[in-house]
Amino acid sequence: KSPLVEIRNLKQYFTIKNTDGKKAYVKAVDDVSFDIFKGETLGLVGESGSGKTTLGRSMLRIYNPTSGSVKIDGVDITKFQGKKLLPYRKKMQYIFQDPYASLDPRMTVSDIVGEALDIHGLASSKSDRADKVRELLTLVGLNTEHASRYPHEFSGGQRQRIGIARAIAVQPDFIVCDEPVSALDVSIRAQIINTLEEMQDRLDLTYLFISHDLGVVRHTCDRVGVMYLGHIVELVESEELYKNPMHPYTRALLTAIPEPNPDTAKKRNRIILKGEIPSPVNPPSGCKFRTRCPYAKDVCSKKTPELADHGNGHFVSCHFAGEI
Ligand code: SF4
Repeated sequence: KSPLVEIRNLKQYFTIKNTDGKKAYVKAVDDVSFDIFKGETLGLVGESGSGKTTLGRSMLRIYNPTSGSVKIDGVDITKFQGKKLLPYRKKMQYIFQDPYASLDPRMTVSDIVGEALDIHGLASSKSDRADKVRELLTLVGLNTEHASRYPHEFSGGQRQRIGIARAIAVQPDFIVCDEPVSALDVSIRAQIINTLEEMQDRLDLTYLFISHDLGVVRHTCDRVGVMYLGHIVELVESEELYKNPMHPYTRALLTAIPEPNPDTAKKRNRIILKGEIPSPVNPPSGCKFRTRCPYAKDVCSKKTPELADHGNGHFVSCHFAGEI
């Protein structure tokens, strides 16, 4: 498999002013490296504050990364601006979490989807634009007769379909799906995920699928990366993550999922995490998870563990991976 997206040592820091007036840095993404292969869905999970949304946005240059590189098709786009960046913006699209907030309430559906075509010069005339919008709406399962309606006239699921139509309008290769179903009713989540999967098959898309829900990720993603405090702590094929989680944080997340069968629940050896995720302004030294890890030893505060391959592409960032 060849990588479509290559992330190397990506850092995204935000400058803030402390109460004493001094500058400080929020280290939202801190030295992250990984590849996303053509055609795959890579899941990214973690608690809120883990940096997953910031990572998705830095990759697409919604933010300007502090350092590191983001390559798409072998081209580093980290320093590109304006016209030079535009063709890569076309290749990489974003589906937002909140279909209520991400669509301009003053624009009709036809204009929301058509605007994306206009920006990238993909419609040769007004009628071509209208035809393309109709085609896209049909593709995502919306009624073309509703193209002149406004976002508030649609349900949450339909609005997310508009968001999908807008993203695929520019024929991208790669889409960051940022919690695309978490703001929706449970009853329609599966329908939206099915639509995303259908689009992936028909249009040869590669996805980064951001979610806090390990249940959703299991069935949607080929591989899964687990984020904690701006770092990826484990990255592996989806089934393997659930069968053989190696990082204590992943184990804690997995054992927190309710298990209906009491016998299986007993065998799970539950890890209960102490406290909250620390502040990304003053993260712990060494392993960022050490303040909550039940297995932490001296070395964990002194040395940052590398994200190392522990066999068959099972990447883990823990000094004691395989021993715990
Ligand atoms: Fe826990 Fe140490 Fe492993 Fe970090 S490196 S996860 S603190 S055992």
